[in-house]
Amino acid sequence: MNAIVDTASPSPLVLVREDLRDFAGYRSARSDRMRGDVWLNANESPWPNLSDRDGVLRRYPDPQPQVLCDALATLYGCAPEQLLVGRGSDECIDVLVRAICRPGGDAIIVNTPTFGMYAVNARLHGTRIVDIPLRERDGEWRCDFNAVTEAALTQGVRLVFLCSPGNPTGALLPQGEIIALAQRLQSRALVVVDEAYIEFADAPSATRLIDTQRNIVVLRTLSKAHALAGARIGSVIADAQLIEVLRRCQAPYPLPAACVDEALRALAPHAALQTRTRIAQVRGERDRLVQQLAGSPGIRRAYPSHGNFVLVRFDDAQAALERLLAAGVVVRDMRATPGLEDALRISLGTPEQNALVASILHGGTA
Ligand code: PMP
Repeated sequence: MNAIVDTASPSPLVLVREDLRDFAGYRSARSDRMRGDVWLNANESPWPNLSDRDGVLRRYPDPQPQVLCDALATLYGCAPEQLLVGRGSDECIDVLVRAICRPGGDAIIVNTPTFGMYAVNARLHGTRIVDIPLRERDGEWRCDFNAVTEAALTQGVRLVFLCSPGNPTGALLPQGEIIALAQRLQSRALVVVDEAYIEFADAPSATRLIDTQRNIVVLRTLSKAHALAGARIGSVIADAQLIEVLRRCQAPYPLPAACVDEALRALAPHAALQTRTRIAQVRGERDRLVQQLAGSPGIRRAYPSHGNFVLVRFDDAQAALERLLAAGVVVRDMRATPGLEDALRISLGTPEQNALVASILHGGTA
């Protein structure tokens, strides 16, 4: 941790695509903060749809509702200006790639096996993908930070996507290494730490680093620990100037009003308490399932996980998949991923569902 610097690092704005630095984006009907009682500036319907009991859906929503931004900033421990809300962290990844990487020129770094959307967005945007695979030894996954630095500095990389806890590995990345990497890549690349599963880990978030190390960007989501995948609420947390640029690169009205309402309800104090209870339960279930599976016949390895899922290698993954499916249990087949040709990823379910999985994989017939 002694790598934390006292003074702030240089502005990350130099990393924004040069042609987008003064890009105004689309000026939507909600961009201008005007006052009035008769709103006739957005070609909306003057009457609500019959299904719209509150009459709010006839209006375009606020692009970045202040109450939601404030609530998320409090939740994540940053300033509201350091946060952009999007349609899940999926959209946040997309906006980052589009704002930072010049199509046909720049590159991103990923560490496979990892979340597939970094590469998908890069591909769609005409951006090269440099893979520095995670290394696995004795059941531990490690990122080769030296190789990442070297590749970033020599291969035109503008974005480094780190996933911690990693999907599908469940492994945490050491924060000291993340800081050191960001320092080495200062003014050269943004280091994006995807913390979709951090609530399930016993580790501090990288959000506390962005004040001093301004090329660190953090992704968070309400889809996992907050049980709101259907509401599609994700956040980018980054330097305030960078957030301002990302906002201009985003779709005009990214957040459906109903989803914003749901998210606000889910962040109210009594719901937050329930969220903590759910997280504790998932963590307990996860550690128990790993232990149970680790001792089961036909299982090569069940990796300890800091997420809400467990990665498992099998002697015969096909047979395991078939046994699970025969009992109606659907898990993620990882076998098409290089290095994981014998693996399945199992999300934690309710205690009953986890017990069912354990019994099936332990050779039972359940
Ligand atoms: N990051 C990681 C590591 C994920 O696993 C996922 C979803 N599986 C996402 C981001 C996207 O999450 P969402 O768009 O629902 O916020």
